[in-house]
Amino acid sequence: MKRIAVLTSGGDAPGMNAAIRAVVRSGLNQGWEVYGIKQGFQGSILGQMLLMGARDVGGIIQQGGTILGSARCPEFRTVEGRNQALRTLNQHEIEALVVIGGNGSQTGSYELHKMGFPVVGIASTIDNDLYGSEITIGVDTALNIALEAIDRLKVTASSHERAFLIEVMGRSCGYLALMAGIAGGAEAIVIPEAEMPPDRVADEIQAAYQRGKAHGIVVVAEGAHYNAEKLAQYFGEHEEQLGFDLRVTKLGHVQRGGAPLAFDRVLATRLGAGAVDALARGEYGVLVGLNTNQVTTTPLEEVVGRHKVLNPELIELAAILAK
Ligand code: ATP
Repeated sequence: MKRIAVLTSGGDAPGMNAAIRAVVRSGLNQGWEVYGIKQGFQGSILGQMLLMGARDVGGIIQQGGTILGSARCPEFRTVEGRNQALRTLNQHEIEALVVIGGNGSQTGSYELHKMGFPVVGIASTIDNDLYGSEITIGVDTALNIALEAIDRLKVTASSHERAFLIEVMGRSCGYLALMAGIAGGAEAIVIPEAEMPPDRVADEIQAAYQRGKAHGIVVVAEGAHYNAEKLAQYFGEHEEQLGFDLRVTKLGHVQRGGAPLAFDRVLATRLGAGAVDALARGEYGVLVGLNTNQVTTTPLEEVVGRHKVLNPELIELAAILAK
């Protein structure tokens, strides 16, 4: 192996830069040339890539986002798009590719692997929904950002005896909402894995007030059926009966942009180095992740199309501790 490339794809996650840095420096340590591909799979189609040296990845470990840029690339979902990417990679004599990204991105990795191109994926998404890694790059930082917002809203909720609803990211997985709810001491948590209709959410808040609490905090995953809009509508329509109002805060993209915390920097560094180790062993078509605190590889074939299941004990625990 002489020349590899690395790209970041899908939603950006804090720690992606630390992973790029680790791939580049570990690759250089192997004596390889490492190219950075711009804008995810789009750059692999268009040939937007640059040779990266150790200094090019200096001063980025503490930065959120990704210096390579990330893009959603619909073209890569087509055979023609992937054939073009393959031609471009071959033209540039790239022998293997490291893909840093979430579920969709690793589906793209698997498609490329099936076409015979050596690919290794690195688990990175703030949703933490990727099968094959207990924890993914970015989720810890995103969780801490959500937590800071919850802590602040709790202070103002207590001062005004007001209920607050905080919507956090998570299209199909409630991990972020569940953990933010547990760590932030929410009275109710609404996630796709444990839906709670609006009247039950209202009951939980009323019961909390009756137990002497001054605040009512509800954490909702954006992908829940009873999402922020539906809950706000119900509370708006029943405000007089309930005797309190509910204010909605959507954290949205604020959760993505933060500087990566120590956990994500170290995780990304370990996984980036792990990806280069896998390539050096000739182990392709795998996802590099962290399981029981060990860097592991899982065949992309097993990763694609599967979703990580939330620990039901944590869902139960959240309900008990909200009392
Ligand atoms: P996150 O969940 O953190 O936003 P992600 O990696 O799941 O990240 P997606 O937008 O789902 O983000 O996917 C990123 C890119 O991966 C897509 O724009 C596309 O280029 C590629 N991709 C997704 N699904 C497929 C597929 N089935 N086949 C080929 N490529 C795909």
